[in-house]
Amino acid sequence: MSSSRVALAGSTGSIGTQTLDVIAAEPDRFELTALGASGRKLDLLIAQAEAHRPKVVAVADETAAAELTARLPQCEIRAGDGALASLANEAEVVVNGVVGFAGLPVTLATLEAGQRLALANKESLIAAGPVVQRARRTPGAELVPVDSEHCAIHQCLRANDNPSRVERLVLTASGGPFRGRSRAELEAVTIDEALAHPTWSMGPKITVDSSTLMNKGLEVIEANELFGAPAGDHGVGIGFDQIDVVVHPQSIIHSMVEFTDAATIAQLSLPDMRLPIGYALAYPDRSTTPFGRIDWSTLSRLDFEPPDLEAFGCLRLAYAAGRAGETSPAWLNAANEEAVAAFLAGRLRWTQIADVLAAALDLYDGTPATDLETVIDTDQRARRIAGEVIERIAS
Ligand code: MG
Repeated sequence: MSSSRVALAGSTGSIGTQTLDVIAAEPDRFELTALGASGRKLDLLIAQAEAHRPKVVAVADETAAAELTARLPQCEIRAGDGALASLANEAEVVVNGVVGFAGLPVTLATLEAGQRLALANKESLIAAGPVVQRARRTPGAELVPVDSEHCAIHQCLRANDNPSRVERLVLTASGGPFRGRSRAELEAVTIDEALAHPTWSMGPKITVDSSTLMNKGLEVIEANELFGAPAGDHGVGIGFDQIDVVVHPQSIIHSMVEFTDAATIAQLSLPDMRLPIGYALAYPDRSTTPFGRIDWSTLSRLDFEPPDLEAFGCLRLAYAAGRAGETSPAWLNAANEEAVAAFLAGRLRWTQIADVLAAALDLYDGTPATDLETVIDTDQRARRIAGEVIERIAS
């Protein structure tokens, strides 16, 4: 078997370090040709480059270029705005593990280069869905989701050849650390509590999003972008009314697809992101390295309950933004990034994250998502408005 060349953007984050585990587990199969990151963890980036010896190392922070060049003489160093996106030309598979809206250029560059995108950066689909959909039509371009729920749906859909037989998608949610708490009980939760996820190990931004269920809301929009288009245009022709969320605290079922005969196919595995990463790298084959197996002698139960939309208003807001379409998800996503940052900085209480998003969505201006510039402009305006709302609410 010839090895496939892999480029990794966002190497120092949670997805990035776990991707390096997957690559290291099957060195004859996956060759890391390029890696890159923001530059905020420069020592880790350098250590990764020394351990994995890629030809190209990219850093978004231009001021880090000189140090990288001095410490990694064997690598070609690229720095600045377009550096991470330029990795798209160094491999057949590009893993996009960049956090937040900053991952969008990597998504577009990879699809436009006609390569496979292993997408962990859900924000690029959510914020720029219509723009990304056009890039997906590039000959050779292929998008395999790394988000565990969407990777599960991707696997379940392979159980049936006829896309018109899909009835609904069911996204599972762990419910996060605050499952079962009332809105009143949620008033006083702390940053540390929000960062203590019961089942998944993830970065801080997405962990806070899991605690508010905004992560699930963004994933509903992501599912609509990935699978909502008509058959023949990468989708199975479903809409928001056919995307459900169910809380499943054990995080063993990663999502399900119900077909027209009411048969439901689910994907089960231990909660470990290295499975979806390996799936996206090996697809249409499978990885041969397990990162833990279900022990059926100890797994005694799987529980399900509906999400509490009163206590977790972010999920309701995400459905509303998704249904509004165009740049509404971009607006919501930008406001959420600002609100989560303000929460992590101690400026907002946890319950105020949803308050900021509701206020920001009320001020949404309905701009169509015609091109990348419009999306970037919307993102910036939404951040400015969210900043003003935060200023008002926090004081
Ligand atoms: Mg997920």
